[in-house]
Amino acid sequence: MLVVRAVVFAAFGLAVGSFLTVVIHRVPRRESIVAPRSACPACGAQIGARDNIPVLSYLLLAGRCRHCRAPISAEYPAVEALTGGAFLGAALAFGDVWVAALVAGFLAVVEAAAAIDLHHRIIPNRILYPSLVAFTVAVAALWVAGRRVSLAGAALGLLAYGGGLLVVAVVSRSGMGMGDVKLAGLVGLVLGALGWQYVGVAAALGILAGGLLAIAALLRGARRKDVLPFGPSIALGALFSALFAPHVAAWYTSALR
Ligand SMILES: [Zn+2]
Repeated sequence: MLVVRAVVFAAFGLAVGSFLTVVIHRVPRRESIVAPRSACPACGAQIGARDNIPVLSYLLLAGRCRHCRAPISAEYPAVEALTGGAFLGAALAFGDVWVAALVAGFLAVVEAAAAIDLHHRIIPNRILYPSLVAFTVAVAALWVAGRRVSLAGAALGLLAYGGGLLVVAVVSRSGMGMGDVKLAGLVGLVLGALGWQYVGVAAALGILAGGLLAIAALLRGARRKDVLPFGPSIALGALFSALFAPHVAAWYTSALR
């Protein structure tokens, strides 16, 4: 059963990843994510169904457009593979299929936010606000259905991680923006519903990764204002925590003894 579930989640994740590449490209440009069909940016030829298979098409086409042979960005198969892997990881990490689906959907949103932040140094409210509402509703629905999620944990996680970064953003006036604060709030909301240790691991890793990247950028002569975007660090912490937090917490507790 677990094998079937893992395969289904991975395949669905690859398809969602393909959709995310469209979201990542179009949402910051305020374009529709449903129409028109994807086209080659170089020659404008529409991308047919057989050239739209996640990862596989890129490999079969050797990373080039079928029509004009212009190179296709490796970001497309990378996002597809990462999403497939995240969905597979969620299927394996959570015994409850509904919780696994919640986490998989959450990781897809976080990944899109991180990729857009990398490209544009902004995390669009068009992604953050609907996600905050949708995942509040989803957590509440799972709680009503008697699944192992905590509403209080979700609220506390949102306040702790989102509120914590809000203070940092206001006080430090570093590169951190309100998009980062809202993304951290979303991470706190969903991971807080799973348990306090998820929020703790995600926040610790996110802040550590963000801090190290900022120091590295400053050492290379970047000015304070254009330090690296913080969203990808928050996303990295969230991804790792969602899949491995119980292991990290167990290791940390045993190391303290
Ligand atoms: Zn082309």
